[in-house]
Amino acid sequence: MSVTVVGSLNEDVLLAVGRLPGRGETVVARTATFAPGGKGANQAAAAGLLGPGVHMVGRLGEDAAGDRQLAALAASRVNVRRVLRTTGVPTGSATIPVEDGSGENLIVVVPGANALLTAADVDVPSVREAQVLLLQLEVPLDAVEAAARAATGTVVLTPAPPRELPAALLERVDVLLPNEHELVHLAGAGPGDRSPAALADLARQVTRGAVVVTLGARGVLVVPADGGPALLQAPPPVAVVDTTGAGDCFSGALGQALAAGAGLPDAVRYAVAAAALSTTGPGARGALPDDETVRALLP
Ligand code: ADP
Repeated sequence: MSVTVVGSLNEDVLLAVGRLPGRGETVVARTATFAPGGKGANQAAAAGLLGPGVHMVGRLGEDAAGDRQLAALAASRVNVRRVLRTTGVPTGSATIPVEDGSGENLIVVVPGANALLTAADVDVPSVREAQVLLLQLEVPLDAVEAAARAATGTVVLTPAPPRELPAALLERVDVLLPNEHELVHLAGAGPGDRSPAALADLARQVTRGAVVVTLGARGVLVVPADGGPALLQAPPPVAVVDTTGAGDCFSGALGQALAAGAGLPDAVRYAVAAAALSTTGPGARGALPDDETVRALLP
């Protein structure tokens, strides 16, 4: 049983501000909180807490943020042997002032070492031999394509941040995992009907493979590869605190369930329960569940 994640590792810097700054303005933050983040690393942490055999492949700087990320991943039972360090380049970061009360934010991302991940970096046994390979688009497309080509297992791609995907990459993807906004972008669709039936049509325009569209509090829409009927899967009721990183937890959980041999419908049920639980605490990794807790929530 093995899940490998190729992707980004960031440090999130969350700044609590009374008011978001305007152009050229200085505001003073009440607190600064440093939290390990990055879509790739978040997916790995979620998968690691749910089961064994999780590997992370990516790049960090040779700095304190990189050390903190490695420690956090190890505490989530993620094998970090293939997380490389780059000297002279900082660990990727996302600086996020969050306004008290409204919760509105601004995000400034520095890709840092993530931008230096190469095709050669991902040509490793943990990528080639993984039962499930989880990919996103916060590292260079070259590395993402090389990983997908090298993979012999099931390839799951979260197309975020959204960008045009080469046909050769799409062909190698077994499960495409966009949110609604990313699906609309991939389909090149304008404003219009966003019913489940319309979203399923968009998904079928993008790929012949399976598509799982995440729809926030509405759950997910599963569009099977065989052209069969699309199915909406609603989340169980939970006390939501913060939905940051829910999509990353969904991906990590889907990867673990697929690696354990579940079919797509069962793996989606498991991931919907895991992602719902992840919203019951703060930040992207504040409430990642273990396997027992997820199973207790399944019907
Ligand atoms: P992203 O964070 O990538 O934009 P979504 O917001 O669609 O993705 O969330 C991913 C998944 O997390 C959803 O499909 C759903 O299963 C779960 N989720 C998100 N928000 C909630 C919520 N308020 N209640 C329960 N589950 C949620």
